[in-house]
Amino acid sequence: MAGLTLRAYAKINLGLEVIERREDGYHELVTILQTVSLYDEISAGAAETLTLHCDRRWMNGRRNLMWKAAELLQRESGTQMGAAMDLVKTIPISAGLGGGSSDAAAALRCLNDLWELNINNTRLTELASHLGSDVPFFLRGGTQMATGRGEFLEPLCTPKDQWLVLVSPDIRVPRKTRLLYELLGPRDFSDGSMTIGLAETLRVGGALSMDCIVNAFERAADDTFPGLDQYRKAMFEAGAEQVHLSGSGPSLFTLMESQCEGDAFQKRLGDLGFCGLVVQTVAAEELN
Ligand code: C5P
Repeated sequence: MAGLTLRAYAKINLGLEVIERREDGYHELVTILQTVSLYDEISAGAAETLTLHCDRRWMNGRRNLMWKAAELLQRESGTQMGAAMDLVKTIPISAGLGGGSSDAAAALRCLNDLWELNINNTRLTELASHLGSDVPFFLRGGTQMATGRGEFLEPLCTPKDQWLVLVSPDIRVPRKTRLLYELLGPRDFSDGSMTIGLAETLRVGGALSMDCIVNAFERAADDTFPGLDQYRKAMFEAGAEQVHLSGSGPSLFTLMESQCEGDAFQKRLGDLGFCGLVVQTVAAEELN
């Protein structure tokens, strides 16, 4: 089969509530994940061995989650085939936008086709959950409520024509997601009802209300990412009514009425010396 190319979209969390710490060390959560119009490009062609070339050199090869996805599929199917994989990164790295998880899900889909394995969606979802809690979501994308540690998914209607501006501070913290979870305590936990309420609205095609978006990591993120508050303040100064954290951060976003409003906000943010990205929600049926 000839080489295949796929887009691996970024996500934001339209609410993320952590209910409790579990016995296995993971956390029980309720979140709504939403793909947005920002993506990496991955491609794979037939080859004798596995290779992975990324335009960010430190992400080449074995340490990349795409590599682990490929090895998982090889083990699952027993195939001896290899693949020459290529990754062009656009999604900010380790930023709360799910880039690495989305790349891994795209690799699973791409190699399942390239190697003609015919692994069904149910099994592919199980395999995805071994790669990371967010990876199952990205197999389908769109708008989904995730529960459990993130692997139980329910598709929802995607809020139509919803624009937003993303701000991704370049603040790197090693082993960020694990650290942020470790910093959560009972005062950050909630019962999930805000996010379940928002899911009920979206399930019947209702509009997104920014008052319903909460994120359990807000406090821990402010303590962990030096300077995050400056980005938040700049967004308010540029006219944002509300600023939300995506995932465990440090990316922030604010909802916009239209692309035009997003562009004007981006300009004001630029005048303050900060960089924003105008993006739109993308439904599952619009992906790729
Ligand atoms: O699943 P993933 O590998 O993305 O998670 C990274 C880390 O985040 C886990 O090792 C765990 O410490 C933490 N985590 C958690 N509860 C979740 C998801 C992740 O505690 N629901």
